[in-house]
Amino acid sequence: MIHIVLFGPPGAGKGTQAARLVERYKLIHLSTGDIFRRNIKDSTELGKLAKSYMDAGNLVPDEVTIKMLESEVEAHPRAKGFIFDGFPRTEKQALALDSFLTSRNEKIKCMLALIVDDAELSARLLNRAKTSGRADDADPEVVANRIDVYKRETAPVAEYYNKHGKYAEVYGVGNMDDISKRLFKALEEHEQ
Ligand code: ADP
Repeated sequence: MIHIVLFGPPGAGKGTQAARLVERYKLIHLSTGDIFRRNIKDSTELGKLAKSYMDAGNLVPDEVTIKMLESEVEAHPRAKGFIFDGFPRTEKQALALDSFLTSRNEKIKCMLALIVDDAELSARLLNRAKTSGRADDADPEVVANRIDVYKRETAPVAEYYNKHGKYAEVYGVGNMDDISKRLFKALEEHEQ
């Protein structure tokens, strides 16, 4: 099993690159943002709970998110591995993921972090707002809050993986194929 955490701020290109990693390594892509949006669309209890947090650009509470993620993993017993996209987003989620995987005799191979500067991120998010139909992309205040939450709560998660020798950075600006190649190389050169 190969488990990868794909990491980066809103607008870093995680969704696009996750699709390419899936194609190359035949992994299952689990995007917590996508799963929440699907639940909102289907008006499930989980969707109703998540909506107010997402609309404000805040994180959905850890307990809810962790439980959801674990049941998604369990729903794919034949998977060759997973790409976690948008998870873990807090240190508590990172710890929960580690103990969940340990209980299954598995582990994270590495976190691949997409590095994109702030000016480029803002430009991409403004552009995405025109087509994504996402309420949290359309309101500049909400976008600013998401970036704030990222810096405050999520960026430290990179340090957690770095401490465990499981962190690799890839420059996330430029041609999309070049970025994919950088990711493949970083993953294949990673020791664990
Ligand atoms: P982006 O990375 O562009 O902000 P996502 O689709 O990953 O978009 O996430 C959208 C929203 O879903 C987040 O702002 C948050 O409210 C919620 N969310 C997604 N993943 C998590 C998570 N791991 N923990 C808590 N909330 C999450």
